[in-house]
Amino acid sequence: MYIRDLMSTSEIREIKELLKTPKKIVIVPHRNPDGDAIGSTTALHQYLTGLGHESVIIAPNDYPNFLKWIPTESSIIKYENEVEKAKEIIAAADIIFTLDFNHFSRTGMMEEALKEAKGMYIMIDHHQAPDDYAAYTYSDTSMSSTCQMVYHFIEKLDDLACITPEMATSIYVGIMTDTGSFRFRSTTSTTHRVIADLIDRGADNTQIHQNIYDTNTYSRLQLQGVALKNLKVLPEYRTAYITLSQEELDSHDFKKGDTEGFVNFGLSLEGIIFAAIFIENKGEGIIKISLRSKGDFSVNEFSRAHFSGGGHNNAAGGKSELSIEETVDKFISILPTYKTQLSK
Ligand code: 5GP
Ligand code: MN
Repeated sequence: MYIRDLMSTSEIREIKELLKTPKKIVIVPHRNPDGDAIGSTTALHQYLTGLGHESVIIAPNDYPNFLKWIPTESSIIKYENEVEKAKEIIAAADIIFTLDFNHFSRTGMMEEALKEAKGMYIMIDHHQAPDDYAAYTYSDTSMSSTCQMVYHFIEKLDDLACITPEMATSIYVGIMTDTGSFRFRSTTSTTHRVIADLIDRGADNTQIHQNIYDTNTYSRLQLQGVALKNLKVLPEYRTAYITLSQEELDSHDFKKGDTEGFVNFGLSLEGIIFAAIFIENKGEGIIKISLRSKGDFSVNEFSRAHFSGGGHNNAAGGKSELSIEETVDKFISILPTYKTQLSK
């Protein structure tokens, strides 16, 4: 396995050459796509379509309603709903771009079709420890978002002038959502320069913030109340966690994406540097875990070691097949191992 932060000029030249003639292209985000996954895939899709390619986005499954206004998202095929059609398109693809993930396993039931595909892979991603399935790997863990990388990818191909207001909007969404609205450590001066350029190219920043964040339903706000009530603090480990049972979700008309951001409540407490949320999913028979940290404590390593997940240093996900109570017990029992790191 190798990690390379930038594509070499010769690779860029090769990709430019490759894209000179019309290709059949498939673009894939990870399962349970978020703002960065939908933003980056739709932006790239618009770019490639503009160049004259036949491009299709195939997402492993559906995504929350607050993303269902992003330019061209309505054309996205959901693998879960159209397996046969999706398989055919994947099998016929000349090039397959994988965006915002770096292991086929992150696509769930789509993994097999991707493994069998004959097309050439191009990866654009900012997560740690990329797999080596791609002919071209653009991996940079210092990047705020895959959306920012799509911008730089287009920049490297000397095509910034191709960025339409719609593409600028797509790219803006993912940078905004993955940086917690430009406040996480991954937000650099370059990120702000990219954002400024996107506004110049037609992204309506105020409208985008409203479309993503001001779409609360009454039941979601009530569910937020339950999450806040369930918040527990372990001051000794500077840790806070939230649980949400299937019953609590059901009684608040839970829809995909409703718990987005809840994990950050714990992290907003003074002195807390490690936050977790445990969300029961009876349908899948798992507890979905989101982990966040501030500073050096790596939730990516923590999740990899104990909850079959991963992500970034300060934001990671994982899962558990134990009950929600047992999962929390396991979580608490692990904390003493990290006592020195957490009390720093
Ligand atoms: P979230 O907690 O919002 O689901 O995920 C936080 C970050 O960790 C995201 O960048 C997401 O892509 C990544 N992530 C979430 N779940 C998993 C997982 O099961 N495995 C890996 N490798 N990364 C994950
Ligand atoms: Mn991302």
